[in-house]
Amino acid sequence: MVNRPRVVIVGAGFGGLRAARELRQAPVDVWLIDQHNYHTFQPLLYQVATAALDPEEIGHNVRGIFHAQKNFHFRLGTVMGVDWAAKTLQMDQDGAIPFDYLILAAGAVTNFFGIEGVEEHAFPLKSMEEAVQLRSHIMSQFEAADADPSLIKQGVLNFVIVGGGPTGVEMAGSLVEWFDKVLSKDFPRLDVGKARVILVEALDRLLTPFDESLRQNALKTLQRRGVEVMLQEAVARATANAVHLKSGTVIPTCTIVWAAGVRASPLGATMGLELTRGARAVVNPDLSAPGHPEVFVIGDMAASKDAQGNLYPQLAQVALQGASHVVKQIGRRLKGESTEPFVYHDPGTMATIGRNAAVAQFPFGWKFTGFIAWLMWLLVHDSQLQRYPSHPSRYIRHLATLVLGHHGATYTPTPCAETRNALSHRLGASAPP
Ligand SMILES: Cc1cc2nc3c(=O)[nH]c(=O)nc-3n(C[C@H](O)[C@H](O)[C@H](O)COP(=O)(O)OP(=O)(O)OC[C@H]3O[C@@H](n4cnc5c(N)ncnc54)[C@H](O)[C@@H]3O)c2cc1C
Repeated sequence: MVNRPRVVIVGAGFGGLRAARELRQAPVDVWLIDQHNYHTFQPLLYQVATAALDPEEIGHNVRGIFHAQKNFHFRLGTVMGVDWAAKTLQMDQDGAIPFDYLILAAGAVTNFFGIEGVEEHAFPLKSMEEAVQLRSHIMSQFEAADADPSLIKQGVLNFVIVGGGPTGVEMAGSLVEWFDKVLSKDFPRLDVGKARVILVEALDRLLTPFDESLRQNALKTLQRRGVEVMLQEAVARATANAVHLKSGTVIPTCTIVWAAGVRASPLGATMGLELTRGARAVVNPDLSAPGHPEVFVIGDMAASKDAQGNLYPQLAQVALQGASHVVKQIGRRLKGESTEPFVYHDPGTMATIGRNAAVAQFPFGWKFTGFIAWLMWLLVHDSQLQRYPSHPSRYIRHLATLVLGHHGATYTPTPCAETRNALSHRLGASAPP
C-alpha cells in the first residue's frame, strides 16, 4: 500500500474539527489529537454554568462525529512539544506522532493578567470542567445561605463577574434569570432577591466590539433585569472572600467569575514559534508558520491579520474559515501549486442578555435588539449544534431547554454541612451548630 501524507491536527475545537472533516476526500491520513475525547461548544458554556443546559448537550464525542470517515484517526492526549528535525509531536504519554503536515488549532487559555489572587480564587469559564465546577459552586452558595442566612450579609450571595465582553454579559443575564425563575422556587425560605449579580468592566462600556446603540441596549437590559453594572472599575486583587477594585471598593464575595480575557494556548511557545500579542503565533498570509511551510496555525492560536494589519478576533467563525482555508492550501501544496492568502468574511456577531433579549450586528450596518435578535441567536446556535450527531430525543430536549430556559440543577460538590463549615471558615465566621 502506498504511504499517504499524514496530516496531524492538534485540537478538536471549532478549527480542528472543521479541518479534519474537510480533509475527508483528500488523499491523506488525518490524525486528530485532543486532550479530551469530546468537543466543547464553548459559546454555550455559560448555559452549563447557570444550569440552563447539561454538559452533554454541548460536549460532543469526537470519535462519534467521524464514524463514517475512513481516513480519520483520533488520539487522546496532550501535545507537549515538537521535534522539528524528526517532524514528530511529543505527547504527554509514551510515543511520538510523526507528521507530514501539521495544523495547530489548540485554541486559547484563560488570561488572569497576573493579578494577585485571581488565578487562585476566581472561577474561569473556558472548559466543561470549569463550567460544571462553577455551577456546583453557585448551588453550594445558595445551600449555605439557606442553612445559615447570616452568611448573606458576609457576601455569600454576591456573584461578581469580571469582564463586560459577550461572555460576561451573557453570564450575568443568565445568572439573574436562573435565580429569579428557578432558585427562588428551589429555596422558598430564602430571600433570593438578596442575591446580587455584579458585572465589573474596566472600560467605560460593555460589549466593545458592538455598535454604540447595541451596547447601550445591553447595558439598560441588564440593569432592568437586576444586574449591577460597574464600569471603569478594574480588579486590583482577589481573596477567598472579597474582590478589591483599584478604586478602593471592596466587594465581599466567594464567587468571582473571570470573563476578562484569554491568551493563546501555551503550545506555540513550547514549540518555539514566533509569538505576538496575547501569545498568538505569528503566521504568513496563507496561515503557515514562518520557516515551517508544512505547518499551519488557525483559530485562537493564530495571529492572522486583515489587509490593514489588524488581528482577526478570537471567534469561532475565524477558526472555522481558517480551517477551510488551510485544507485548501494543503491540497494546493500536494498538487505543487502555490498557496493563497487567508481572508476572513465576517458573517456578523451576536450576544444574548438572557432569555428573549440579545443584540446582533451584521455587515452593511444591520443591527437588531430584543426578542428578534434573541430568535436569531437561537436559530444560529441551534443550527450549529445540529451539525453534531445526537440522539433525536436529546436534540428535542436540548431545543426545549434553549427555548424555555433554566431547569433545576441538583449537583453540589460537597455535603451541605461541609460546605457551610468551609464557607464560614473562608468568611471568618464561626460555623453555625
Ligand atoms: C465562554 C466562551 C464563550 C464564547 N462565545 C463565543 C461566541 O458566542 N461566538 C464566537 O464566535 N466565539 C465565542 N467564543 C470563542 C470561541 O469559542 C473560540 O474562538 C473558538 O473556540 C476557537 O476555536 P479553536 O479551534 O481555535 O480552539 P478551541 O475551540 O478552543 O479548541 C482547542 C482545542 O485544543 C485542545 N488542546 C489545547 N491544547 C492542547 C494540547 N496541548 N494537546 C492536545 N489538545 C489540546 C483543547 O482541548 C480544545 O479542544 C467563546 C469562548 C468562550 C470561552
